[in-house]
Amino acid sequence: MTSVFREQLYIGGQWVPPDSGERIEVENPYTEEVFGHVPAGTAEDVNLAVSAARQAADGWASASPAERGAALGHLHQALAARAGEIAETVGRELGTPLKVAKAVQAGLPLTVLSGYAELAARASEEETIGNSLVVHEPAGVVGAITPWNYPLHQIVAKVGAALAAGCTVVLKPSEMTPLVAYLLFDAAHEAGLPAGVLNLVTGTGPVVGAAIAGHPDVDLVSFTGSTATGRAVSHAAADRIAKVSLELGGKSANVILADADLVKAVKVGVGNAFLNSGQTCTAWTRMLVHRSHYDEAVELAAKTAAGYTLGDPFDPATRLGPLASAGQRDRVRGFIERASSARLVAGGLDAPLPDTGHFVAPTVFADVDPDSELAQEEIFGPVLSIIPFGDDDEAVAIANNSRYGLAGAVWGSTDRALAVARRLRTGAVDVNGGAFNPFAPFGGYKQSGIGRELGAYGLAEFQQVKAIQR
Ligand code: NAD
Repeated sequence: MTSVFREQLYIGGQWVPPDSGERIEVENPYTEEVFGHVPAGTAEDVNLAVSAARQAADGWASASPAERGAALGHLHQALAARAGEIAETVGRELGTPLKVAKAVQAGLPLTVLSGYAELAARASEEETIGNSLVVHEPAGVVGAITPWNYPLHQIVAKVGAALAAGCTVVLKPSEMTPLVAYLLFDAAHEAGLPAGVLNLVTGTGPVVGAAIAGHPDVDLVSFTGSTATGRAVSHAAADRIAKVSLELGGKSANVILADADLVKAVKVGVGNAFLNSGQTCTAWTRMLVHRSHYDEAVELAAKTAAGYTLGDPFDPATRLGPLASAGQRDRVRGFIERASSARLVAGGLDAPLPDTGHFVAPTVFADVDPDSELAQEEIFGPVLSIIPFGDDDEAVAIANNSRYGLAGAVWGSTDRALAVARRLRTGAVDVNGGAFNPFAPFGGYKQSGIGRELGAYGLAEFQQVKAIQR
């Protein structure tokens, strides 16, 4: 496969040379070879991009919702024409198996973007409350900072909503997976998005990310990433009281009640925990099982994990790709090494691995202490912890014993499972395998974040509300 060298940034509707000649290399985590690079942007590049976004802000805000919807429709069309390239690019820079990459890394953002092309019409909805006319206005210039695990989806969830709301955007994608972002900007250029409405500055977090978060002319910072970085971004924005929305980490519980369909709950649960090699913020990494089925669940989870085929993301037989980087692999291995009090039932550090690539074998621990590091920390790798419980109250208490509150699942008879779902302190819960809905609000309680993305709730994050009294 060919190398991908991107030498420019996208600012003010044009491809422009970066301020510095420094570059960031992009590695294929399966072959462990560098196959591309992008510019390492600087604070000066951020200044130019924010200034372009500011100049474009009034024009884009005053475009009619129908015009903005049409522009997003054209962007969607241009991006959809690149669906195959998107899946392959993410397969190479992240290591997602191609089949999953096609469905999730390419298909999901396309669905989300087409949704925002339609939702743009709702951005100007008005409401009357007594003598007040309540109008919604764009929040202004948005700084968007995104991670590497679902790189295009996380970008589109922000960019689609912000543009639909009438905001202009400066994006900094993750330095680990920047190449797929370029495909969005190729599409934006081809679609003729007005100059300055969408700008790209690639670079590192401490340089470009920090410059965006702390920029006096950025009205809203929309961040997805780790809780630690989210805290730093919040601090930077707090100095000027800028609005911040945060999509952060998770440690979600999959609660399997006494009357659940055990086989389905365990199999779907293992698949969820290991999706994208466990590098998924909503992954159900804690499997909570009623004692009456506990031994059976442990055996089934171990067997399911052991059946995964690891290997080349481009081989159709591969179920589990490598982790995104050597650093991520070492971090995950560290959690497994320190997990001495739990019972290892699948995978572990001695399991066989492919010859190349940053792999960790799908690993399952049983009898995990709910207060231990394994059950409390976001591991972000293919590591599942199984924990027994005695009754529904105990299951809820264990599930909520987390500083995170992003997602979760409950399996059992419908009314009982729904009752438990209502008691979980998380932004989303899937009952009996309910499918992910890309138009439903997505976000976290507690340290999993502030605000919501996707659908109409996601659009509202990028708006200000004004009351006009008559
Ligand atoms: P990260 O926090 O290391 O980086 C995220 C982004 O922030 C990157 O673009 C990075 O360059 C940038 N950044 C780093 N330091 C910065 C700074 N000081 N100022 C501004 N920006 C900075 O996260 P990651 O490792 O890329 O992604 C994994 C994390 O993201 C996990 O914790 C995962 O749970 C979380 N995540 C959350 C969601 C969600 O929607 N809740 C979705 C996906 C991932």
